[in-house]
Parts: sequence; C-alpha cells; structure tokens
Amino acid sequence: MNVHRLSPEILSAMEGAVGQIGITVEPAGMAKYLGDWAGDYRGDALVVLRPGSVGEVQALMRLCGELGLGVIPQGGNTGLVSGAIDSKGGGLVVVSLERLNSIRQIDKDNFTLRADAGCVLQTIKDACEAQDYLFPLALGAQGSCQIGGNAASNAGGVNVLRHGMARDLILGLEVVLANGELWNGFSGLRKNNSGYDLKQLFIGSEGTLGVITGVEVKLFPKPARVETAYLGLASFEAAVTLFNRARRDCSDLISAFEIIGSECIELARLIDPGMAAPVSAPVQVLVELSSGPGIDLNGLLAGFLTDAMEKGLLIDAVLAASNAQARSFWAIREGLVEGQAKRGYHVRTDLSVRISDIPALIENASRFVANDHPGWIALAYGHAGDGNIHFNVLPPMHLAVADARTRGSEITAGLYEIAVGLGGSISAEHGIGRSRAREFWSGLSPAHRRMVAALKNALDPKGLMNPGCLLPSTETFP
Ligand SMILES: Cc1cc2nc3c(=O)[nH]c(=O)nc-3n(C[C@H](O)[C@H](O)[C@H](O)COP(=O)(O)OP(=O)(O)OC[C@H]3O[C@@H](n4cnc5c(N)ncnc54)[C@H](O)[C@@H]3O)c2cc1C
Repeated sequence: MNVHRLSPEILSAMEGAVGQIGITVEPAGMAKYLGDWAGDYRGDALVVLRPGSVGEVQALMRLCGELGLGVIPQGGNTGLVSGAIDSKGGGLVVVSLERLNSIRQIDKDNFTLRADAGCVLQTIKDACEAQDYLFPLALGAQGSCQIGGNAASNAGGVNVLRHGMARDLILGLEVVLANGELWNGFSGLRKNNSGYDLKQLFIGSEGTLGVITGVEVKLFPKPARVETAYLGLASFEAAVTLFNRARRDCSDLISAFEIIGSECIELARLIDPGMAAPVSAPVQVLVELSSGPGIDLNGLLAGFLTDAMEKGLLIDAVLAASNAQARSFWAIREGLVEGQAKRGYHVRTDLSVRISDIPALIENASRFVANDHPGWIALAYGHAGDGNIHFNVLPPMHLAVADARTRGSEITAGLYEIAVGLGGSISAEHGIGRSRAREFWSGLSPAHRRMVAALKNALDPKGLMNPGCLLPSTETFP
C-alpha cells in the first residue's frame, strides 16, 4: 500500500489538467494499472492519470515538473521487464495513454499511417489490412500493447528478419518533453538527411526521455501470397544451416523463421491439451514466406523443402495446405508462451547473439542449467532469423515461489554471463526496464555511460521521467 499522499489541492490541480474522467486515485480503480501481463511484477503509484488529448499530456507534465513528481508513461502494460510498473517505490504518477487512441491518418500513396500513441497495435494492423496494406510489426501481445509502447520499447516480434524492429518501421514521432513542451517530429519523409535523427533517441528510451503521444509508421502492400511450413530437424546447428540456405534459395522472401525446442510443446498443451506438433523432432522450425502476386510461392517453398530433405537437413516437413492449418502451426508458437505464463513464475530471457552462435548459446546455457540447477527445466525457442533466443527456465513443480525467485535470479545472472561471453546482448527486444537496469548499467563502458548521462540530463534535467527504469536510480546516476 502506498504510504505517499497527494494533498487535495494537488489532486484538484491534476483533475484540472486531465478532467474528472482522467484521474484515478482509489486503490481498486488503480489496480489494473499496477500489475503486468505476466503477473511477475506489482507496483504502486500516487495516482493514475489518463489524459484524453495531447494538450492534457502537456498540462500534466508541466504540473508534475512544478511539483517535482516522477512520471511513468504506460501503454498496454505488456512489457515484461517492469518498465511501466514501479515495483520498487510507489511515489510516482502513472500516465496511461489508453484514452489517446485514434488513428489520425492513412496516407495511401505515401504508404504511411499516423496514430495516437495509445492506439492498440491490433487496431492499427486491422485498419491497414482493411485497406489492403500491411503493418508488419507482429507480436503475441498485439491485442493489448500500444503503438506508443512499441516505439518506447523498440518492439521486435516475428517479422523482424524481413521488416526490422520498431526502430526501422517508424518514420516520425510526436513527443511531449519532460517540461511539457511539444515536439512534432512528423514529416512523412523517408529521406531526410538534415542533422540528428531525434526520433531514434526516443525509440527504445522506455519512457525515460519524454511521453510519446503520436507515431507515424511505414506501411507495405498486404501480401497476396503467404506459405507456411512446420519442419523437424535434428539439431540447432541444422536449423542455422537451413536458415542460411532458405534465405538464398527462397529469394529472401522469408517473413518468419521461428525455432522451437521440442520440450516447449508440452507448454502449448497446457493451453490446449489437443495441440500436437505436426512433426516429431528435437528441433522444430516454423517458417513463413510471403510475397505479392505473380510468384509461385508454394512451388518455391515446396522445392526448397524437397531439396533440404534430400540433403539430409530436414527430418520431416509439413507444408500447410490451408489457412486453417497454417493458423494451427502458429497456435503452437503462441500457445507455448501462454503456457509458460500459466505455469507461473519462471526465468524469462530474450537473449541475442550472432545467428552463427545460436547453437553455442543453447548448448552452453543448457549445460549450465543441467549441471548447476538440476530439476529446473530449460526451454529454448525464439526468433532464430534474428539471433534472438528466449532461453527460459521453469522451476521444479514443488518449489515455493519465494525460493524459486531467489534461485531464478542466480540462473538469470548465469544466462546473461553466457550470452555476453558470446558477444551477445541481455536484451534482444524486451528492453531493460527496472528488472535489468543494474546489469545494463554495469555492462556499459565509461564513454557509453557519459553519453547516456548527457542525453538524460539534457532532456530530463530533473530526473522525473520514469525514474529507476533503464538507469538504476537517481542516486547512482552521475
Ligand atoms: C505474450 C507476449 C508476447 C510478446 N512478444 C514480444 C515480441 O515478440 N517482441 C517484443 O519486442 N516484445 C514482445 N513482448 C513485450 C511487449 O509486448 C512489448 O515490449 C510491447 O512493445 C510493449 O508495449 P506496451 O504498450 O504494452 O508498453 P508498456 O508495457 O506499457 O511499456 C513498456 C515501456 O515503454 C514505456 N512507454 C509505454 N508507452 C509509452 C509512451 N506513450 N511514451 C513513452 N514511453 C512509453 C513504459 O514506460 C515502459 O518503460 C511480448 C509481451 C507479451 C506479453
């Protein structure tokens, strides 16, 4: 329970900034803004503010600046690293963007869309599809996460290998700065080589530099053809070789290449007991190709799979014969993520290494868990085409949650060490948040720290933007 209190005068000033509908202070009303999707983190806040316009965001930022109150911008709360949840303090103001949720414009000839930051990703994808366009950012949380949250966390997902991360898909941002000033960074231009590209500072900044209120993204033609196959392989080495061949032999038309260790399938069954992988093999791959009309995509993929089978790279392969069958393949990939959440607390990572180092990462990490933490269950799956592996570890069934969390921190540290030892990153796509701030900061070189500190101090001199997220805390920040 929050021990901090806001006076009636301050609450009344806040109500003046966002209106009665935009302020929630009772614990029951605030509860949904204080817990994350996975149930891993619960936080507290002084108050939840839900502005309904960009002007209201400016007004509340000015007010919080005058009062010296720290602010946490919050999107759909699907981030998995305690970035939008103040799990360690409680003396902050949560600013939810959920009421800023309109699509502002689709410019068909420019292949761009502008939306309020609080627009849910699925809403944007559906609006594009209805007009025969594609917005390719695709992730399991797309029904809840917001485009502003995607920008702030530089989201990745299953189509990164073809279209890049949010950073590659965003053309412009509109941001309310810490002092309440509005920066309109919209231009619709694909080429604009005039000075610093300021939007890139805010992309991936996790709410520590300003509140994103609007996002402009690139669109693509909706693919006319999509082919999906579910493959069985003998090893992770074979999967890396297969990916290399597939990029070349399928004319670089791969839109997803997801790797799934067979031990993950049991988790998908927790969501649907009838779910079964279409192949039986230790390593499984979900591959998707997409293109416009005029290409025999089915023939291309079928020919590639036959060749890979003849060369001994594949144990088994099933090419989806219908959209329903393709969806059933994806249900396995999505089900295993939900199944883990259902299983409760577990070690969750999103490591990244060079694609060529994926087998070493999985081998080293599996050996570490088996030797040092017997009884824990290691799982490996992820966006292999981007070198991004979710190496997650489930506690033994009987272990109390508190004990599991303590041991889980040790396992996480060991896994980070293995990834960094291979020249990799502790965060491929989920970001740093509060849960990894210390590891992030301690891994930076002095020059890197100085540049981060200079940027933070320039844009947020009072340190009020999402304190404790990304950078360990104001006390340790230079
Ligand atoms: C089932 C599931 C699958 C997922 N799959 C993927 C995946 O494949 N790839 C991937 O990258 N991520 C994935 N994620 C993580 C998550 O969905 C993404 O990071 C998403 O982009 C977060 O968006 P959000 O709106 O929920 O942001 P939140 O969780 O609300 O916030 C995330 C961070 O952004 C900041 N923020 C939010 N909105 C704003 C704003 N308007 N202005 C400034 N700062 C803001 C917050 O302060 C916080 O630091 C997954 C999560 C789940 C639950």
